[in-house]
Amino acid sequence: LIELKNVAKSFKSSDGSLRSVLERVDFRLEKGEIVALLGQSGSGKSTLLRIMAGLISADGGDVRYQGQPIFGPAEGVAMVFQSFALFPWLTVQQNVELGLEARGIDPAERADRAERAIDLIGLAGFEGALPRELSGGMRQRVGLARALVMEPAVLLMDEAFSALDVLTGERLRNEILELWTGGEMPTQAMLVVSHNIEEAVMMADRVLIFSSNPGRVRAELPISLPRPRHPDSPEVRALID
Ligand code: ATP
Ligand code: MG
Repeated sequence: LIELKNVAKSFKSSDGSLRSVLERVDFRLEKGEIVALLGQSGSGKSTLLRIMAGLISADGGDVRYQGQPIFGPAEGVAMVFQSFALFPWLTVQQNVELGLEARGIDPAERADRAERAIDLIGLAGFEGALPRELSGGMRQRVGLARALVMEPAVLLMDEAFSALDVLTGERLRNEILELWTGGEMPTQAMLVVSHNIEEAVMMADRVLIFSSNPGRVRAELPISLPRPRHPDSPEVRALID
């Protein structure tokens, strides 16, 4: 579905020099799989996801979605942000509908699709609430509904659970896995960025280990455990410890 070859990205530092954040990043995200990208803070994970979502461009290399180079926001690729990134002055419903509006979808269909996404992600009854009236876990549900309403083939999750407390994060993670295994999401592949080994092992079919300075995929670990997985099971513990 998505293929990255030799992707590079640099940013200008405050002193004006160029700093290489990503170098020679190669990997493919195939239909039907959940891949985790595990790397330290500052290693360039969010930068890589933004490139895959078409929000920023790479300096070099090749980024393709279904064989086509990605220029600008790719239809079919949606992202859930680390810090939710909701518009504070818009209601839940308006936040979820925004992407559909940008795509020129008429109000009736917008409302209908938003309602289904809001239901699916467990926010029914909160359509008119403002983000500040919601807990962190519920705000991230809005972030998820906003991504899912686009019916993305590829869902990119940027540390979607790291701003939540452990229990809330685990619950949301499990719900997403249930939607995924139950075929209730239109999504065909997920990339889950994390710095939490347990989260990666619990969710992914493969874990890519990302190194820092510059960020690069260094190793790959296949996880061939059936779902649902339990964090305390010996198989999971053996991989984490
Ligand atoms: P974290 O786990 O903390 O979210 P990360 O792996 O997602 O980290 P990035 O956010 O991709 O890392 O940032 C990688 C590096 O690139 C950091 O040093 C950051 O300061 C730098 N960087 C990211 N975006 C920009 C930007 N727009 N301008 C300048 N530097 C940037
Ligand atoms: Mg990040």
